[in-house]
Amino acid sequence: MSQQMIAIISVYDKSNLETLVKGFSENNIRIIASGGTSKLIRSLGYKVEDVSSITKAPEMLGGRVKTLHPAVHGGILARDIDSDETDLKSQNIEKIDFVVCNLYPFKETIAKENVTIADAVEEIDIGGVTLLRAAAKNHERVTILSDPNDYEKFLVELNDKTIGDMPGEISKSLKNQFALKAFEQTANYDSMISDYFRKQYSSNKSQITLRYGANPHQKPAQAFIASREELPFKVLGGSPGYINLLDALNSWPLVKEISASLNLPAAASFKHVSPAGVAVGLPLNDVEKQIYYVNGIEGLTPLACAYARARGADRMSSFGDWIALSNIVDVPTAQLISKEVSDGIIAPGFEPEALEILQKKKNGKYCVLQIDPNYEPEQIETRQVYGVSLQQKRNDAIINKNTFREIISKNKSLNEQAIIDLTVATLSLKYTQSNSVCYAKNGMVIGLGAGQQSRVHCTRLAGDKADNWWFRQHPKVLGMKWAKGTKRPEKANAIDLFVTNQVPTEQPEKSDYESKFETLPEPLTEVERKEWMSQLTDVVLSSDAFFPFPDNVYRAVRSGVKYIAAPTGSVMDKEVLKAADSFDVVYIENPIRLFHH
Ligand code: 5GP
Repeated sequence: MSQQMIAIISVYDKSNLETLVKGFSENNIRIIASGGTSKLIRSLGYKVEDVSSITKAPEMLGGRVKTLHPAVHGGILARDIDSDETDLKSQNIEKIDFVVCNLYPFKETIAKENVTIADAVEEIDIGGVTLLRAAAKNHERVTILSDPNDYEKFLVELNDKTIGDMPGEISKSLKNQFALKAFEQTANYDSMISDYFRKQYSSNKSQITLRYGANPHQKPAQAFIASREELPFKVLGGSPGYINLLDALNSWPLVKEISASLNLPAAASFKHVSPAGVAVGLPLNDVEKQIYYVNGIEGLTPLACAYARARGADRMSSFGDWIALSNIVDVPTAQLISKEVSDGIIAPGFEPEALEILQKKKNGKYCVLQIDPNYEPEQIETRQVYGVSLQQKRNDAIINKNTFREIISKNKSLNEQAIIDLTVATLSLKYTQSNSVCYAKNGMVIGLGAGQQSRVHCTRLAGDKADNWWFRQHPKVLGMKWAKGTKRPEKANAIDLFVTNQVPTEQPEKSDYESKFETLPEPLTEVERKEWMSQLTDVVLSSDAFFPFPDNVYRAVRSGVKYIAAPTGSVMDKEVLKAADSFDVVYIENPIRLFHH
């Protein structure tokens, strides 16, 4: 360090440069700069050498090669070790102590209207990135200044002769801080470049442009994957929107995991990134066929049964749903879907005739996605909220029959059907916005409470939905005489008013309701309601986290719950279990909490 220290400067953004150069010259630091930068420094009246003075080569290729030379990079990358010193000496290269660099404005260039690929290419900074990376790599010795706003902070230390053994030394902590900044800049710069070229060269392969984000004013919007050549799904119909993709990418792993755990075809019906219905393909009885609008249809496959259950559980919530199916979509399933109001579907494949049926839906706008069933996402997932990146290992918890081994209630009898239902309910929670509580029976979700801030509100909401599902099977509902021309969604709305005891009494709602019927159904009496509810039994319930109070158990048993799976850990665990035991409920400790956001 007895020799004169050297700074190399190559900046696109030349702001604050004079202050910096003044500081360098006051400290007797030799300044070397690239073309435009040296010109400016010279015009400011400071002593500066061109890069060519050390490279002995001119800037060339119209500026594409300015600083890319061993005289520059050897000087930056050399360590204070003998072998490096020997190498430098043999090539007559001097060590560089300070690098000042910021990059061509790639982002600003590509944001301009009518920018061509050639324009963009010229704005890809090569030498600058190399300067930044080389200096940042060797930050043990070299100081890298990549932000004009840091010059002042740097000069304070440069002028402070108490740092280190020699004048001109910069503290380790500031060098570290500047090196990190340079690495962040090159990473950010490279991601802007790959984003641009992904859009140019891999549109509809690893990237798709979306019409807008969550709302129409949120433009631009896109979906992409950086770790693969192609997105894990192909668009076979329509064009998916932002929320469609959120639904698709949550509903697909759900049906995949249910199917893998139970070895049965599975279906999910999603709305706003939570399931409205989820089911496996168990056969349907006649009442179920009627309430799910599949009576009279021959040849229902297990997949079609799974979909009928998932779509039928909560018909109102499933209106305009996103569908996920675990298996190749067959014709009977496609035919059921063709009759429902739905936004799109994700499945691992489609029989040709089934695909034709779906592609005709919504005048050809129905969104059809084919997922690669072997796709495994990366272990670490990242999202940004309000500019802050959040990272976590993905929730790869496996939920299967073994999850329900730890029975902590007095009653310990768990049968095969309950285990299927518990698996469906618990896996559904893994992909439901928290808090969440799920009731299931017959291999399907019958009530799901999502996104409530209070757990008992989830338990009530889901329980009320389970009750509605059950009342829809009441003979008075099955026997409803509909007015001609009443559509399925209108029937679902009218049935909902009927079963929830909200038959309208005021105009104009009353007339509207009554117009849906050929014969107005007699409302259910209190006695009928009680009697009917007493027949709802063997329901399972799963909760994504522990019950903080026994009120959840009290509410659950009113909807026929016989089996509960939930994590423990509440100070009230004992009270909750006592309540379960008092109803002879089988209570299983699920070791895994399943919050999902
Ligand atoms: P100047 O205005 O000094 O002529 O150029 C400064 C810009 O050139 C800086 O943004 C710097 O990142 C960039 N730069 C430095 N060396 C090279 C090089 O060898 N090739 C290219 N393409 N750009 C360089």
